Amino acid sequence: MKFANYDGRAVVTDGTRAVHVADASNGKFADEPDRIYTVWDEFTAWAQTVELTDGFLLDRSKLSAPSPQPRQVFAVGLNYAEHARESGLDNPTEPAVFTKFPSSVTGPDTVLELPTETVDYEAELVVVVGRYSHRVSESQAWDHIAGLTVGQDISERIRQLIGPAPQFSLGKSFPGFAPTGPWIVTPDELEHRDDLGIGCSINGQVMQDGRTDDLIFSVPAIVSRLSAILPLLPGDLIFTGTPSGVGGARKPPVFLRDGDILETWVEGIGTITSTCRTGTPYPAGH
Ligand code: ZN
Repeated sequence: MKFANYDGRAVVTDGTRAVHVADASNGKFADEPDRIYTVWDEFTAWAQTVELTDGFLLDRSKLSAPSPQPRQVFAVGLNYAEHARESGLDNPTEPAVFTKFPSSVTGPDTVLELPTETVDYEAELVVVVGRYSHRVSESQAWDHIAGLTVGQDISERIRQLIGPAPQFSLGKSFPGFAPTGPWIVTPDELEHRDDLGIGCSINGQVMQDGRTDDLIFSVPAIVSRLSAILPLLPGDLIFTGTPSGVGGARKPPVFLRDGDILETWVEGIGTITSTCRTGTPYPAGH
């Protein structure tokens, strides 16, 4: 099943046709996508009964972030061996976790404003949490996941690394720095949910091309390790890391420029598109 945010309203879709959840359920379920995650088990049982042949044709431009107001957004750095190497670091023995603040979350097809000339791309598989999850084992982890979506961990590299300790969370949280979508796909719909092709291109040129079975900490391992420390909440996002090929590690570096079209995909889920524009620089000295 695919679940999407259509102009602020929850829909079930096959990618072509869709039905509004609130209408089709006669109000049993809310219109707001955020509220659906809080009753995800009940919702998915009902969604099995939905007939999409009677649905309306999806207008892609109306899709926005599948989980628009997550309470927590986690991200894991250096989670592919090749990417750790290109960053000049060994494979981590513990997940390197930071946050992207929730105000950075946007939808699948957006204009990405570049506050500096050192903004980089990171194609990522993103987990959407479907249950309150505290101290979940790896073997139970998939049952706590509502679905998977495509994300970009857009990163301002100077802000990320400046200061006495790196500031990943700030450098990766400018407005629009967490595009997600186009929908979430439930894990049962993916035949090989642990091994999905992932990548991105700039103006049609492929920059990253990897597979999620190369993750150092797998999706279940991340859910288990995070939830050992704090509860994961319905609708929370987890950015799971990026494969090699990021712009900052290239010689010479490649950063996003005005007019660039950044396309990001995950096999079995879909593609999101960021159109880059030179934005207002943030105030000097900050
Ligand atoms: Zn990342």
